[in-house]
Amino acid sequence: MKSYQLTILPGDGIGPEIMDAALQVLDLVSQEFNVTFDYEEALFGGCSIDSNGVPLTDETIEKCRQSDAVLMGAVGGSQWDNQPHENKPEQGLLKLRESLGLYANLRPATIYNALLDASSLKPSVLRGADIMVVRELTGGIYFGSPRGMDKDKGWNTLTYTKEEVERIARTAFELARKRNNRVTSIHKANVLESSQFWREVVEDVHKEFPDVFLNEMYVDNAAMQLVRDPKQFDVIVTQNMFGDILSDISAMITGSLGMLPSASLGEKHALYEPVHGTAPEIAGQNKANPLAMIGSAAMMLDYTFEMPEAAGMIYDAIGEVLELGFRTEDIASQNTSVVSTTEMRNLVLERCADKSDTIIEMVRMSYEG
Ligand code: NAD
Repeated sequence: MKSYQLTILPGDGIGPEIMDAALQVLDLVSQEFNVTFDYEEALFGGCSIDSNGVPLTDETIEKCRQSDAVLMGAVGGSQWDNQPHENKPEQGLLKLRESLGLYANLRPATIYNALLDASSLKPSVLRGADIMVVRELTGGIYFGSPRGMDKDKGWNTLTYTKEEVERIARTAFELARKRNNRVTSIHKANVLESSQFWREVVEDVHKEFPDVFLNEMYVDNAAMQLVRDPKQFDVIVTQNMFGDILSDISAMITGSLGMLPSASLGEKHALYEPVHGTAPEIAGQNKANPLAMIGSAAMMLDYTFEMPEAAGMIYDAIGEVLELGFRTEDIASQNTSVVSTTEMRNLVLERCADKSDTIIEMVRMSYEG
């Protein structure tokens, strides 16, 4: 039996409630798929400031480094707004990503048919769209130096090295192979030298992946195309700042923040977390939507533990629960039944349990055949 070590960082606000739901789904996976997950929980974010004086201790970083993957809820809240900037919960998150060398941020924007009416786009434009934004996370203008401001000007530096572009391009091409074999490299090569460089390096890496289709797009056009015809995209790969903006557009067209999982990957480490924050106004009320957190656990099974059947079981279960008309408050609409966090968790668990026998039999037959 395979065994994996996970560091669990529930964080603040709704973090602990949605994490509980994800861990129960992982418990079911471990029973059904002959694998064990050993969890080690640590304080991170505002709760760590309250106990340890800092949002992220060296001990927590070390725990994360020693584990096979990190699952995180969300951090932050107004009670920590008066902390010095470098001691804010969100700074802890930047430090964690940096300490683990997480250079690739993967944000899938999957459109569930049952939620088509939650988007601001027409269902006919949206139906069938399935986008994976791969954003470079540790380089580019957010990290470049020199940077600064004085009373006459402000300045930042945008640099990408060959190694930085090569590794993110490889991540995108490898992902495309598991999806629909298409990568769109987004840049601004008509204006920026750093983007011309980006384009050339991506084209070079593409030679290692001749089976994957590569096209290029300027970032301004890409922003327009994402809302005009999102179905044209499979994997998008882009630099840090463009990815920051485009991943929010692709998130918005799905209709709900509470639905969106994400992964941050490095050479040695991986962290999975929902895209949303701590939703302080509903924390502790059993109202939070746990599906983004459960989806993040599914991404972990898929990308870090190479368990696509288990991940697929969870994605399908989420789709079916939505098709049956169950919704947490944030995604409720007419003719749907509003359920709590724990009820939504139980519905997903029930659908997973129904599916798991069939999936296990299919996997067994594929090994035998
Ligand atoms: P938010 O994502 O917490 O909330 C935005 C809106 O979406 C709110 O109306 C909230 O109730 C709703 N929402 C979000 N997730 C939900 C869920 N799972 N179920 C139901 N409703 C959900 O963003 P915010 O309000 O801007 O930030 C609140 C706090 O979270 C801040 O302290 C912010 O810094 C922090 N934050 C943390 C992260 C992170 O840890 N990665 C990300 C974003 C914001």
